Amino acid sequence: MLVGVATIQGDFEKHIEALEAVGVSRSSIVGVKTPDHLKEIDRLIIPGGESTTVSKLMAFTGLDEAIKVRAAEGMPVWGTCMGMIMMARDIEGSEQQTLGLIDITVRRNAFGAQVHSFEQEIDVAGLDEPVNGVFIRAPEITRLGEGVECIAECRGKAVAARCGRLIGTSFHPELTDDRRLHELFLSL
Ligand code: GLN
Repeated sequence: MLVGVATIQGDFEKHIEALEAVGVSRSSIVGVKTPDHLKEIDRLIIPGGESTTVSKLMAFTGLDEAIKVRAAEGMPVWGTCMGMIMMARDIEGSEQQTLGLIDITVRRNAFGAQVHSFEQEIDVAGLDEPVNGVFIRAPEITRLGEGVECIAECRGKAVAARCGRLIGTSFHPELTDDRRLHELFLSL
């Protein structure tokens, strides 16, 4: 199994470390920057970062269209924070391009600016014990389309969604030592 991590911008190194920690060998992890890289992989993680930048770079290389095709064919994709924004159908009050993989609307920076970053224990559907959610300029999900399940809430806001093999979390499990969400993703 080859696991892709989008290495365009953001905290992709942390996802690579987390994957190694759950037993994925470095040679089975592919940094994804172009459509060609995508051909090799079985699943893809889009990390946290800056969605305005990544959106432009993905459009420039054509990676956006290539990801849409693979996701439509059933490839599992997990996006954390910026990654979830990129996976959303649309962004509230913005024309910013997304991949539109999950039928959700997100609102960027829903918990405030960088200085308002926080950690909070949250329950995630499918996990027995709560996770330590790390929220950094995190988005909230303001609309869930048909067939999309809200799998976590924080401070009264939806912060994670799942639609089949597609998962978006507005927090960053890759910045903690808890690997259960990485394990869950690898099991899809
Ligand atoms: N606020 C960032 C954005 O809109 C996401 C922040 C993050 O990924 N931690 O792209």
